[in-house]
Amino acid sequence: MKQVVSFDDVLAEIAVLVRPHFGKGRTAQYIPQLAGVNPNQFGMAICTIKGEEHAIGDADVSFSAQSITKLFALGLALNSIGDEVWTRVGKEPSGTPFNYLSQLEHEEGIPRNPFINAGALAVTDILLNHAAEPDALVRDFMGMLGVAHLAIDEDVAVSELETAHKNRAIANLMRSFGTITHDAEAVVEAYCRQCAVTVTCRQLARAALPLAARGFSPLIEETIFPERLTRRLNALLLTCGTYDSVGSFAYRVGLPSKSGVGGGLVAVIPDHAVVAVWAPELDRFGTSVVGAYALEYFSQLTNCSVL
Ligand code: GLU
Repeated sequence: MKQVVSFDDVLAEIAVLVRPHFGKGRTAQYIPQLAGVNPNQFGMAICTIKGEEHAIGDADVSFSAQSITKLFALGLALNSIGDEVWTRVGKEPSGTPFNYLSQLEHEEGIPRNPFINAGALAVTDILLNHAAEPDALVRDFMGMLGVAHLAIDEDVAVSELETAHKNRAIANLMRSFGTITHDAEAVVEAYCRQCAVTVTCRQLARAALPLAARGFSPLIEETIFPERLTRRLNALLLTCGTYDSVGSFAYRVGLPSKSGVGGGLVAVIPDHAVVAVWAPELDRFGTSVVGAYALEYFSQLTNCSVL
C-alpha cells in the first residue's frame, strides 16, 4: 500500500469523476427529515496519522451521522465490557438488509453483527448500563476524537422516532429473547438520538483516526483502543460495515468502511489515514452512491487498499 500521489490532487480529480453519479440514488425516504436533504452536496476529507488534513467540497458541512455512530458506540461498549459484548451480538455479515426482522427470530434474538440495527440496539442496551444517556456518550466520544463539539439534531431524532416502527419491532423481539434488558422503547429512543448526531467529513475523518493508528489518536495524543481491538474493529468494518452490499463494496473499495443513511461513509487505511465522504443520495442498501464511487476512485488513484 503506497501513496504516490498528492491527496489534494486526488480529491480534486475525484470531485470531477463523481459528477455523473449524482441523481442515481435517493435520500433516505423513510426518515422524513433526511428525505428532504439537498441531494446535490458532496464533501470529502482525508486525515492522515501524521495529522495532515485534506478536504474538498462540502467537507465542513454537518450531516446526519446515522449508522456511522454505531462504530463509536461499539468501541465504547468493547472498551467497557470487552468480549462480553459477543454474548449478545455476533460477528458475521448478515446478508440481509440493515433493519431485517425475521433472521433475528430464527437466530433466537442474537443479531448477526453490531452494525445492523438489531446489533446496534443491543449495543445501546449495553451502554445503558453505563450511562443514562448513551446517545450523549457517543456524541461526546465522537466529538472528543473529532476535536469538535457535536450536536444531536433534535428534528432528525424526532423524525426517526416517529417512524421507527421496524426498529421498535426489532427491539421488542430482542427483549423477548433477553438480548435487550432495558425497556425496548428507551433503547429505541437512545438509539435514534445517537443516530441523529451531526458531524462533518473533516470531524469524522479525525474521529476515526485511531482506527488507522493502531488505536492511538495522534490528534489528542491518547490511546483510545488497544491495538488488537483496533484490528478487530477494522475486521468488522470490512466484513459487516456496509450491510448486504459488503462483498461488492470490499471488491470495489477494499477498505474497512462504515456507511450511514445520512449519506456519510468513513473508510480506514490502516497505518496511513482515514477518508470520510458525504453525499446524501443512497443506493438500495443504504449506502451513499456518490460516496461509494468516491472511495472506489480513491483506492484506484492512490492504490490504498487493505486487499
Ligand atoms: N437510524 C437508521 C435506522 O435505524 C440507521 C441506518 C443507517 O444509517 O444505515 O434505520
